[in-house]
Amino acid sequence: MLRVLKFGGTSVGSLERIQNVANIIKKFKDQGDHLVVVVSAMSGETNKLIEYAEHFSKTPNEAELDMLLSSGERVTSALLSIALNEQGYSATSMSGREAGIITTTEHTYARIEKIDTTSMDKAIEQNKIIIVAGFQGVNIQNGRVTTLGRGGSDLTAVALAGALKADLCEIYTDVDGIYTTDPRIEPKAKKLEKISYDEMLELASLGAKVLQNRSVEMAKKLNVNLVSRSSFSPEIEGTLITKEENIMEQPVVSGIALDRNQTRVGMYGVIDKPGIASSIFTALADANINVDMIVQTIGTDNKTNLDFTIPSGDLEKTKKVMQNFTNDSENIDYNDAICKVSIVGVGMKSHTGVASKAFTALANEGINIRIISTSEIKISMIIEEKYAELAVRSLHDAYQLDQ
Ligand code: ADP
Ligand code: ASP
Ligand code: MG
Repeated sequence: MLRVLKFGGTSVGSLERIQNVANIIKKFKDQGDHLVVVVSAMSGETNKLIEYAEHFSKTPNEAELDMLLSSGERVTSALLSIALNEQGYSATSMSGREAGIITTTEHTYARIEKIDTTSMDKAIEQNKIIIVAGFQGVNIQNGRVTTLGRGGSDLTAVALAGALKADLCEIYTDVDGIYTTDPRIEPKAKKLEKISYDEMLELASLGAKVLQNRSVEMAKKLNVNLVSRSSFSPEIEGTLITKEENIMEQPVVSGIALDRNQTRVGMYGVIDKPGIASSIFTALADANINVDMIVQTIGTDNKTNLDFTIPSGDLEKTKKVMQNFTNDSENIDYNDAICKVSIVGVGMKSHTGVASKAFTALANEGINIRIISTSEIKISMIIEEKYAELAVRSLHDAYQLDQ
């Protein structure tokens, strides 16, 4: 069988951890499996490189940033290949380019356009273990290296599994599967045996970084058998991410996600005339800034307030764009001390009273909800960041997710 295995930052965080990964790979190879392995940079490496760049510029050139950031994954892929070859297993490392991963042109957040599997097919035919540097591809227009957004090695793995029609794509990390919420915040969190693509996609998009959201989206589209499991306890079975119809019992609420990387932008005394929202949000979209929740209050005296949230990482870019709108507003402020807690479950579609339970749980803790948004299978709330963990735990209790 053909397996795609992906090992995240902590799984390759030291030379000992890389040896541990080599041992997992050797076991599968001894069983006769074909293996394509995707690796992340050593944990902390990508953040360190970003800090280095920011030492010189608050808004570094994004093509240069990609050149820099893609180096972390190349280090671990080569080291793992060197280790395996030394230990009698034929392996070859590949950069994103060598693996044939062709992407769009948006540096630091490129999308995969197509994958030319010629080199990988040849290596698989030669029974070699392929070790691909995750998180990167090549700009379709000019051949420069691109990266796929934070956590993008997950996407590399799923995309390769899809392109190679692999039997299985296993994402190895430092927890042994998908839990009802981040087990580091709520020790009572329960591991799920299975979760649907849609619920996982919501959780990932709402801050559960255990899987990158785009990777889940692609797994759903390409019907990839995706498993989340631990490289620290590889003997434990992980969580299967699969189609909704493969899951017998659908709980009303499946999980709770927390996103600390949110900044709230408040515009006060905005001149209330047609076209204002359109011009602001078009300008933000043109700068590739992902605006999330938007609230406009009912205006008085031809003035109104506009509140919206952005990923904290886009703050500098946002400030630059908003400079063009300072004349339209009396005051613009940025509040980074907020977070978003969300509840996700496909069962919400057919149950009432799910949202009110959340509001009551937070009210009982004295937590003020600043912005609320709901959809068919999720409820999201913006609250002060200092209440983040308390909110997650009280919601977990309110929906009895530990049972
Ligand atoms: P990697 O470096 O292997 O890609 P990440 O740090 O990106 O790993 O993701 C793993 C982390 O995701 C875990 O350590 C855990 O704290 C966090 N996490 C958040 N939400 C969940 C959840 N619902 N289930 C499991 N882990 C979660
Ligand atoms: N190293 C990259 C990051 O930290 C990609 C990844 O680990 O998936 O975001
Ligand atoms: Mg990750």
